[in-house]
Amino acid sequence: MITLALSKGRIFDDSLPLLRAAGIEVLEDPEKSRKLIIGTTRADLRVVLVRATDVPTYVQHGGADLGVAGLDVLLEHAGAESSAGGAVGLYRPLDLGIARCRMSVAVREDFDYASAVKQGSRIRVATKYTHTARQHFASKGVHVDLIKLYGSMELAPLTGLAEAIVDLVSTGSTLKANHLREVEHIMDISSRLVVNPAALKLKREPLRALIDALEAAVEARS
Ligand code: ATP
Ligand code: MG
Repeated sequence: MITLALSKGRIFDDSLPLLRAAGIEVLEDPEKSRKLIIGTTRADLRVVLVRATDVPTYVQHGGADLGVAGLDVLLEHAGAESSAGGAVGLYRPLDLGIARCRMSVAVREDFDYASAVKQGSRIRVATKYTHTARQHFASKGVHVDLIKLYGSMELAPLTGLAEAIVDLVSTGSTLKANHLREVEHIMDISSRLVVNPAALKLKREPLRALIDALEAAVEARS
């Protein structure tokens, strides 16, 4: 049996067409069913539904053989692992090109970010992505105080919790609706296939075939 970890929402929705192109149909709609383990038309492949941020953990510890996770989530996971002294046991064979967005710095429309950065003043930055944010500002030599949040980052500059946020942006309409302005593009984000290295050895044939089929589906798209 092969276990694939997906998260509900855009990753699940955007993975379906790739799985379909690989000849795999998922047997249930997670929005309608309460099941956390769903079968597929391939008797030896099942899908487990986990939180987006839990996908790397499941795959690393063998709760799933492979999974789909955003680069944002993978970088935070790797950052947390390496600061805890652990090895990051994830094989990353494929950029699936789905759930595309960008990681950006945003501030209130009326905040003079350029001057704040130039003057070397300390900036408070609120974000869910503390590892990525720390690296980004360290590489620019900008002093920041990071404030960890778990959601609604847009609120931080509006309430005075922070001057800036680091968050994912796709159309920019949420920023605009909250009178925020994107001032830096940190990196492009898309979702990646991650595989448990031990599973890749133990279940080499079926896993290799699945990875190859997904790779062909991704290539057929571009
Ligand atoms: P949860 O809702 O459980 O806290 P989440 O918000 O990380 O988790 P999703 O919103 O489904 O879960 O996001 C999953 C992944 O999709 C993210 O890790 C990111 O890679 C990508 N993503 C997030 N926001 C966008 C967006 N606006 N457009 C495109 N892709 C996005
Ligand atoms: Mg979300």
